[in-house]
Amino acid sequence: MAKKYVYFFGNGKAEGNGTQKDLLGGKGAGLAGMSSAGVPVPPGYTITTETCRYYYANGKKLPKELAAQQKEAMGKLEKALGKKFGDNKNPILVSVRSGAKFSMPGMMDTILNLGLNDEAVLGLADKTGNERFAWDAYRRFISMFGNVVMEIEKGEFEKELESVKHKKGVHLDTELGVADLKQVVDLLKKLVKRETGKDFPQDPWLQLEEARNAVFRSWNNPRAITYRRLNKISDDIGTAVNVQAMVFGNMGNDSGTGVGFTRNPSSGVKEFFGEYLTNAQGEDVVAGIRTPKPITELQNDMPQVFKQLKDITSKLEKHYRDMQDFEFTIEKGKLFMLQTRNGKRTGIAAVRVAVEMVNEKLISKEEAILRIEPDQLAQLLAPVFDGKEKAAAVKGGRFLAKGIDAGPGAAAGRVAFTSEKAVTMSKQGPVVLVRPETNPDDIEGMVVAEGILTAIGGRTSHAAVVARGMGKPCVVGCGVLKIDLDAGVLAVNGTRVKEGDYLSIDGFTGEVITGQVPTLPSEVVRVLRGELDKKEAPLYATFETVMKWADSYRKINVRANADIPRDAVMARALGAEGIGLCRTEHMFFAPERLPYMQEMILADTEEQRRAALDKLLPFQKDDFKGLLKEMKGYGVTIRTLDPPLHEFLPKTKEDATELSRKIGIPTEKILAKTQELHEFNPMLGHRGCRLGITYPEITEMQVKAILLAACELKKEGVTVVPEIMIPLVGNIKELKDQTAIVRRVADEVQKAQNVKVKYLLGTMIEVPRAALTAGEIAGEAEFFSFGTNDLTQMTLGFSRDDAGKFTKVYLDKKIFTDDPFATLDQTGVGKLMEMAVKDGRKTRKDLKCGICGEHGGDPASVKFCYRTGLNYVSASPFRVPVARFAAAQAVIEDKSGKSYSSK
Ligand code: PEP
Ligand code: MG
Repeated sequence: MAKKYVYFFGNGKAEGNGTQKDLLGGKGAGLAGMSSAGVPVPPGYTITTETCRYYYANGKKLPKELAAQQKEAMGKLEKALGKKFGDNKNPILVSVRSGAKFSMPGMMDTILNLGLNDEAVLGLADKTGNERFAWDAYRRFISMFGNVVMEIEKGEFEKELESVKHKKGVHLDTELGVADLKQVVDLLKKLVKRETGKDFPQDPWLQLEEARNAVFRSWNNPRAITYRRLNKISDDIGTAVNVQAMVFGNMGNDSGTGVGFTRNPSSGVKEFFGEYLTNAQGEDVVAGIRTPKPITELQNDMPQVFKQLKDITSKLEKHYRDMQDFEFTIEKGKLFMLQTRNGKRTGIAAVRVAVEMVNEKLISKEEAILRIEPDQLAQLLAPVFDGKEKAAAVKGGRFLAKGIDAGPGAAAGRVAFTSEKAVTMSKQGPVVLVRPETNPDDIEGMVVAEGILTAIGGRTSHAAVVARGMGKPCVVGCGVLKIDLDAGVLAVNGTRVKEGDYLSIDGFTGEVITGQVPTLPSEVVRVLRGELDKKEAPLYATFETVMKWADSYRKINVRANADIPRDAVMARALGAEGIGLCRTEHMFFAPERLPYMQEMILADTEEQRRAALDKLLPFQKDDFKGLLKEMKGYGVTIRTLDPPLHEFLPKTKEDATELSRKIGIPTEKILAKTQELHEFNPMLGHRGCRLGITYPEITEMQVKAILLAACELKKEGVTVVPEIMIPLVGNIKELKDQTAIVRRVADEVQKAQNVKVKYLLGTMIEVPRAALTAGEIAGEAEFFSFGTNDLTQMTLGFSRDDAGKFTKVYLDKKIFTDDPFATLDQTGVGKLMEMAVKDGRKTRKDLKCGICGEHGGDPASVKFCYRTGLNYVSASPFRVPVARFAAAQAVIEDKSGKSYSSK
């Protein structure tokens, strides 16, 4: 039997069914499902996605069986309507629409009123008794077909329409009469002839064929390609084409059209939500020419229809067991459903809908967990822009630029171009820190800023990592910003923003908007910080519920990357079960400590160095005490010094002079040392364990601080679990050099303190050679923590600080499907991890393995880590709930073989 490319639906029947989204697309499956459930749906047929795939696989040719199958389906459609396609006296008009498996709103093409021509328009006028309606439908059809199929600019059609309106002195399309519309049709046909040299096609069958091909073509228009890339939809799945009898919402005041949701898609509240217009076609609702009415008013306008619509849509929600997004048309008092699909929703709505649907016994807890995208949870923690205000700002021309959305949340404040300025300005009000890029000395400015914006850098840039750690909105890599630090101004295509002017950044989308867009604070964070009573926080309650559910499935532990006690408190509140990475260097940047660190770096002799380190010791010890105490018995992984030393030294002559005043070392010497420490490639230079190997006294001081903190706490009766971690090891001998120091100093401190403390001693796996020799390294290391930022950098050979410059091109050219610094490259870097875990555990059966690179907070990477057998993932505090959730999903997916997508 020939392959079936066309599926009919209508008259309470359907050849396909609601589950066949892969084959019929989301819209086609929805129409088939509704039709067989007896929902009033105009009859039609769906040409499968497989046909589209055939079209592209065969040099844009269609299967030979298609024409006959379409004819046959049209025969069924004619039977359902009791008239003939192509009968000019009583014409059938159809819509031709795209419909992929995942909704791609507005990205592909649609043609309405197909079937009209110079004669059929008269037949339509006659049959409907409405001449104006018929000519209006014809002029709309010529514009749409002319644009989509004949590829004439949309604006050209609008110009012709405007010219007639102008001549008549009217503003609205509805003010044009029959004679005017006839004139418009005439002008549009002339336009088509002028632009293409051809007459507007009069044969409905030819119109249909060309419209179908145009929809298949539109699968690969640039908009659709970009949308698929952004939403991670495969380019290979293709679109279906739906051909469906037209129904008209513009046949008088007993007609109308609208869209709606069974629940509120932004808050999740269970309320009938939507808008409609009387006497209008679908495109009028979308075009925003007339302001639609809230759907609740339909109850007064057409009570019967309202009741029927409510009944149908709540049945559809029950049937699909998910919130529905629907479209409908009312033609002369009769309701038709045109579409139903699972509705897109915000993170806030996703959580509320999932919890309420479990309470309503519509779905199971497992389904509820699978339905929430883990990334969406971050939205519940971040401040948000007021949606209406943001839309108004964009409409008002205040959109400035778009960068990479690196830290979710919304921030508005006055622009500060330096960290110092941010600190002073923040005393007067909110500040947005804008820098070409940030480095560790910007930390103070970042702490006080509401949000951070940089021109350079990617998702693992300093700004991005630190901002996420702090839970601050952040946009990075916004290359169009021309920042002139000397003049204190940034410019984008002629728009200038001065220091002190307001700027708003949206870390969910990467958008930058001039002026102040008002924000709303996150309820969840206010409860966790103790600023809001749980009882007054319904959103918190739903958040807490889903997190509890997730934890009951999760098998892998989730820790946080945190460097200071304040972040550790937040991490615990967000559910972290320990600290997976404390970057000790972050403790040295506070103003009262930095000079000692600088003194240590500038020292000429070991003696001088030790003297400076002695001054840092009490600070480090106190920080470690704070962290260990907050983590009450959970593991705290503390890493010895990692970054290249020059990062701590002043960059300018003025800064050097100021430092010279503080520590009494001549400016020239400071500058000379900075010069000496300069490296061409600091990321692969004198950093990581190489520092501790060349300056053992640094490791000694840090270990002493850790052990002293642990001993003192133990004496106070606090349970502590310190884990000392050596960074950037590639060779077992490097590790042995450092572990010898750690063990010696740890013994000395314990003896002096007269307390025994259990500690673990392990290493980061972030140099490929360490992964390759993991069996050997596990002989010395009691735990592995995968530093996938560096492991990605070194395995791919891409500088983590520079990859942002070409990542987009790599994504566009499909060399990457994801940014490898955001989502783990499972085939390459992941393979090294799998191997290291396996080989490591061959040597040491109970080897504890975790991950502390940025990937530890990325859902797909978390799932991979679970499946690779890691004991824990460690993420920035505000990503901890995301990781907890992804880890639960991995367990449920493996058990049920199902995953869910609301794309
Ligand atoms: C890593 O490399 O993944 C890591 C966690 O260390 P850092 O980002 O501090 O280099
Ligand atoms: Mg690293």
